[in-house]
Amino acid sequence: MKILVLNSGSSSIKFQLFQMDDNRSIASGLVEQIGENDSLAKIEYNGTVIEKREPIADHKIGLKIMNQLLIESTAISSLNELGGVGHRIVQGGGSFSEPVIVDEAVAKEIENLIPLAPLHNRAHLNGIEVMMEEIPNVKQVVVFDTAFHATIPKYAHMYAIPYKYYETDGVRKYGFHGTSHKYVVEEASKYLGIENLNAITLHLGNGASMAAVKDGKCIDTSMGLTPLAGLMMGTRSGDIDPALLFYLGRKYDLNIEDLDELLNKKSGLKGVCGSNDMREVESMADKGDENAQLALDMFAYRIKKYIGSYNAIIGKTDCIIFTGGIGENDIDTRARSCSELEHIGMELDLVKNNQRSKEILEISSKNSKIKILVIPTNEELEIAMQTYSLLGT
Ligand code: AMP
Repeated sequence: MKILVLNSGSSSIKFQLFQMDDNRSIASGLVEQIGENDSLAKIEYNGTVIEKREPIADHKIGLKIMNQLLIESTAISSLNELGGVGHRIVQGGGSFSEPVIVDEAVAKEIENLIPLAPLHNRAHLNGIEVMMEEIPNVKQVVVFDTAFHATIPKYAHMYAIPYKYYETDGVRKYGFHGTSHKYVVEEASKYLGIENLNAITLHLGNGASMAAVKDGKCIDTSMGLTPLAGLMMGTRSGDIDPALLFYLGRKYDLNIEDLDELLNKKSGLKGVCGSNDMREVESMADKGDENAQLALDMFAYRIKKYIGSYNAIIGKTDCIIFTGGIGENDIDTRARSCSELEHIGMELDLVKNNQRSKEILEISSKNSKIKILVIPTNEELEIAMQTYSLLGT
C-alpha cells in the first residue's frame, strides 16, 4: 500500500510518498512560496527531480500541481492508487488523542480549533478539503502533533489562572512535536529492549521542546498552549516571567501584535546574538562573539534545568534522547547540556559524542545509569505508519 503524507503549512506544502510494505519513502517534494509570483513545486522520485516555477495562487492550485507531479514523475500511475493520505495537524486540542479518519465532524472540530493555532490549522484544513475533493474515494487520516501529550495528567497541564478560561476557552498546556517525541521513544524502546520506557526526549531544532515519558506515556512537555513555552529556541523566547510583557508593553507602548512578534520571532538565539541558526551562532562564538557564547550557554542551561526536573518527576530514567537538527548534529550543544550530570547518573562519553551517524547512536559512558541516545527523527514516517495502522491492509 502507498501512503501519501502531507504537511500543509501556511505558505508551503511538503509531501512524501511511502511504500508501506517496507516503510520506505519512495518520493518526496514540496510546493513553496504559495501566493507569490515565483512559487516552486518540486518532486524527487527514483533519483530524478522535476521542478516547476510558476505563480501558485493558493493551496488548492498547489495541491493540484503536487498531484500532477506525483503522476508525471511516475511515482504513482493514478491518485486512486493511494491507499490513504496522512495529514500532519499541529493542534488537536483536547478532542483528539489518536489519529482519526476524516469525516465531516472531524473536519468541523479541526475548524473549531483554528483560534488555538490560527496559521497552522487553517492551512491543514485547506489540504484536507482539497484532497477530499480531488480523491473522494481515498481515505484521509489526521495525525496530531498534540496527541502524544494527551496522557499528561491534569495537574501538569493546567495553568494556575482562573478556571473558567480552561472550561470556556480550552486554555491549558497541549504540547507540540508529539509525533517526533513518540517516534524516538518507540525507536529507543526497540533499541534498548525495554517495553515501557522511562525517557526524557529532546527535540532540538529551530523550534525546540522536551518531553518526560514514564512507562512509555508522556507525563509532561515543555511547550504549552502554544509552541512559545519552554526551551529557548531559534527565534522564540521559551519560558519568561509573563509580567515582562506588561512591563515592556507599558514602557514602549507595544500592542499585543508587537509583543507576539517580539517573543515568537525576535527572541531566542536570534534575540540574544542576532542569529537563529545554531551553526552560525557557534561559529560566531568561536570567533569571540560574547553574546553568541552567552546564547549557547543559555540554550544549554535551560535544557539542563528541564533534564533535572523531568528526571525528578519520572523517577528512574532509562534514557535521554536527542533528536532534531540540533539534537542530531550538534556535538557541542549535547556536551554542554549533559555536562556535570553524573550526580543524577548521567555521563556522556565525549569520544562517542563526536560520532555522526544516520543510525541510532549511544553516546553515554559505560558507567552511565541513564543511557544517552541520538535518534534521527522521522515525523513523516511516523504519520505514514499511524495512517497505515488505522486504515489496515
Ligand atoms: P530543524 O528545525 O530540526 O531543521 O533544525 C534546524 C537547526 O539545526 C538550526 O539551528 C541548524 O543550525 C541546526 N543544525 C543543523 N545541522 C547542524 C550541525 N551540524 N551543527 C549544529 N547545528 C546544526
